[in-house]
Amino acid sequence: TRALASSDPEIFAGIAHELDRERHQIELIASENIVSKAVLEAQGSVFTNKYAEGYPGKRYYQGCAPSDEVETLAIERAKALFGCGFANVQPHSGAQANGAVMLALTKPGDTILGMSLDAGGHLTHGAKAAQSGKWFNAIQYGVRRDDHLIDFDQVEALAKEHRPKLIIAGGSAYPRQIDFAKFRAIADEVGAYFMVDMAHFAGIVAAGHHPSPFAHAHVVTTTTHKTLRGPRGGMIMSNDEALAKKFNSAVFPGLQGGPLMHVIAAKAVAFGEALRPEYKSYIAAVVENAKVLAATLKERGSDLVSGGTDTHLALVDLTPLKVTGKDADEALERSAITCNKNGVPFDPLPPMKTSGIRVGSPAGTTRGFGTAEFREIGNMIADVLDALAANGEHGDPSVEADVRLRVRALCERFPIYPEL
Ligand code: PLP
Repeated sequence: TRALASSDPEIFAGIAHELDRERHQIELIASENIVSKAVLEAQGSVFTNKYAEGYPGKRYYQGCAPSDEVETLAIERAKALFGCGFANVQPHSGAQANGAVMLALTKPGDTILGMSLDAGGHLTHGAKAAQSGKWFNAIQYGVRRDDHLIDFDQVEALAKEHRPKLIIAGGSAYPRQIDFAKFRAIADEVGAYFMVDMAHFAGIVAAGHHPSPFAHAHVVTTTTHKTLRGPRGGMIMSNDEALAKKFNSAVFPGLQGGPLMHVIAAKAVAFGEALRPEYKSYIAAVVENAKVLAATLKERGSDLVSGGTDTHLALVDLTPLKVTGKDADEALERSAITCNKNGVPFDPLPPMKTSGIRVGSPAGTTRGFGTAEFREIGNMIADVLDALAANGEHGDPSVEADVRLRVRALCERFPIYPEL
């Protein structure tokens, strides 16, 4: 950092600003986490200099022995973590991992079936605005109106009607466990491949607090930076040897050029951390904390989509408070609590407004918050929401100032990166 401070004070200041923000805001964005100093170090290493197109033992350039060492460790650790036979750790992101699977298993114009964005799915699962929605005949399933759980009657009916090549399960704002066996049975009925995108809950699977998709899916994709608590990146895994070759070719040379070896080194570090017993207790706390946060918000008058959560995240429906997601996430940011507005199933409000917020426990749990702290966070959020309900979109500056002080005190009791 000293080199950066003198050679580029503007960027140094930006990074210092971000460090200060992370230290003093409560991070509830469900897709974020706080990586270890070891992960940061690996990602900031000299591997950033290296081109290593190809795979361990089969590279296009010379000088790849160290790259082979760390990529092999990343692959072996990923396989051990999830108990699977194949892992490709090169996708630059979750979107790239999903794109590579589609490149391997489908052709443009083929039919794919994924969960719609407004039911909690991801852009890469066939949303209109994304490549997956533009280049494929993308059919979308949703959740049931009464309990907000995946509508398997609809999944089956759509699969039989449209006969997709690929069925996708997983999402970004779905708080419940997914029945992978049911999906696979439907996929088998229509001769489709079944892919699980476990980007959000991968860490919960790794720690054994969520059913594993590997017995059911032909292929599993993930990001490495959410509950897995690694660097930003993606990964493809499978137990199907024949498909494995296709996935490798689809990632490189199909979709990407040189792998980000510094990120792969950091992925290996994070997987190593996740293999330790402490990580299992971390994930148990993540799940418990999410339940406490969700229950506190419900006690204070919000609704919970699907009535609760089995995972690290809750989708909070603010309709009973007559507050929008947009007003809520802005007021919470003013109060030093970071989350995102999120549509709820069958949301009458447009995506830029929404009726809900999504909250998650992974980052707060990493810094040491337990159930008492998450109850306090739920009450702080509810105080801000009550002030919005009473005063309209601008809320109550004195309530927000009071919450900012309470957040500050909580963050100072649980410091992050003290050595930076
Ligand atoms: N898949 C799911 C379910 C996600 O939630 C996300 C990220 O939000 C992605 C894929 C995409 O990951 P990335 O942002 O790394 O491209």
